[in-house]
Amino acid sequence: MAVTRTFSIIKPDATRRNITGAVTKMLEDAGLRIVASKRIHMSREQAEGFYAVHKERPFFGELVAFMISGPVVVQVLEGENAMQANRDIMGATNPKDAAPGTIRKELAESIEANTVHGSDSDENAAIEIAYFFKPEEIVG
Ligand code: GDP
Ligand code: MG
Repeated sequence: MAVTRTFSIIKPDATRRNITGAVTKMLEDAGLRIVASKRIHMSREQAEGFYAVHKERPFFGELVAFMISGPVVVQVLEGENAMQANRDIMGATNPKDAAPGTIRKELAESIEANTVHGSDSDENAAIEIAYFFKPEEIVG
């Protein structure tokens, strides 16, 4: 296995509840290293662009509204097979289906307010990292 990078967002439900530290600890305990991190409040245009792949899905409008409802923390995570390691610690999209010990099972509120985003392929990870970070903002 190789050391790779993936992209994470700690979503507005987590910043609202002041649990960004708890989320980050679960990521770190899963072997992921935070090599870039910043707290931002996404514009509508930024959120629509980020989630453009979902624009035909029925929940697109609600998802964008949720993601701009408060600040988020965007992060670059590094580790052995980082994309899959992050997906594993995140758990299933719907917290009701997520396995015990995963971030979504332990911390998420609902299928929408599910605390974290994580890239779903190495290819998308590279695109999503570049959407939010300049190369010099990432310190490995
Ligand atoms: P993920 O990769 O596990 O985050 O899931 P998806 O890529 O399928 O969906 C993107 C995000 O859209 C999810 O993380 C949720 O925040 C939201 N979402 C997914 N399914 C639903 C749904 O059925 N209803 C609503 N309101 N939001 C959803
Ligand atoms: Mg996804």
